[in-house]
Amino acid sequence: MNRVTVKEGLHPRNRYRNGYDFAKLSAAFPALAPFVTKNAHGNESVDYADPRAVKALNQALLLRGSGLESWDIPPGSLCPPIPGRSDYIHHLADLLSGGDRTAVPRGKAVRILDIGTGASCIYPLIGASEYGWRFVGTEIDLASHAWASQLVAANPSVTPLIDCRLQTAPAQCFSGVVQPGEIFDAVMCNPPFHASAAEAAAGTRRKVRNLSGRKAEPVLNFGGKDGELWCPGGELGFIRRMISQSTKLATECLWFTSLVSRSEHLPRFQQFLRDVRASGIRTIGMSQGNKQSRILAWSFLSPAEHLEWRRRWTSPSGR
Ligand code: SAH
Repeated sequence: MNRVTVKEGLHPRNRYRNGYDFAKLSAAFPALAPFVTKNAHGNESVDYADPRAVKALNQALLLRGSGLESWDIPPGSLCPPIPGRSDYIHHLADLLSGGDRTAVPRGKAVRILDIGTGASCIYPLIGASEYGWRFVGTEIDLASHAWASQLVAANPSVTPLIDCRLQTAPAQCFSGVVQPGEIFDAVMCNPPFHASAAEAAAGTRRKVRNLSGRKAEPVLNFGGKDGELWCPGGELGFIRRMISQSTKLATECLWFTSLVSRSEHLPRFQQFLRDVRASGIRTIGMSQGNKQSRILAWSFLSPAEHLEWRRRWTSPSGR
């Protein structure tokens, strides 16, 4: 019998916490079947170092039970691990609830801005299908933006909830994509974390080695085109720009958040945030397998303003 491993580190509402039933997934999505093999422990699994296997698993996970009808990524693009991306959405839901997990806001009164949505449009697709939230997904890469827009159109259950916008100024996070007077309950972002193409390539080689235990191959496991993985200044530069630019939208957004992949960057971000007088600063830990990550969250609003803001989701007039 197949042993299913509970992924303790995942959020309690994460639907992938109890592991996968590969037999059921393959039955529902036959294209996955050729990639399912027995791992060293005798359990069914896929080779996570094979990008085709990871893509087929993602398709099976996203299309089974989520109401989504179509998902794919262009060759060479970042192939997001779905359980980890889902975790960010669930922790964001908790953050919005003000700490009361029984009061997680659902429905289209909630508006999220996803900076750098990628070709996969993964956060909007998960957030809209899990919670019914509305999303604006921005992207600087024209081809990724076009792909994400097509994915949204190909999934009628979430089409009215997701708006993909092209950012034409790579150094900007909000200007040019946020319209005057537009309000967001939260900003989310998985920033490009390397500072150069060479650093990104070395990181990918390391990841392939860790996953497969093999010598690095020229294949990219989770993929990632140049611009997806790096930007001037890397993660430090990107989030620093985001923090500085967020001050202009201090009263238009309840929570600003970003993934931070390197924990050693946190003290510097916390200092930047104090410098711009952010009032609420939080770090939310996430763990997927042996990988630790965290969400940095900040706000410029007072506790009383937070309370007032949260009332809007339930008030009959909404917004
Ligand atoms: N959200 C996706 C993709 C993350 S990769 C995921 O989690 O898998 C980071 C993305 O940010 C890339 O697609 C890159 O093109 C985009 N990007 C970089 N700078 C940006 C900016 N200033 N505004 C919007 N998108 C940006």
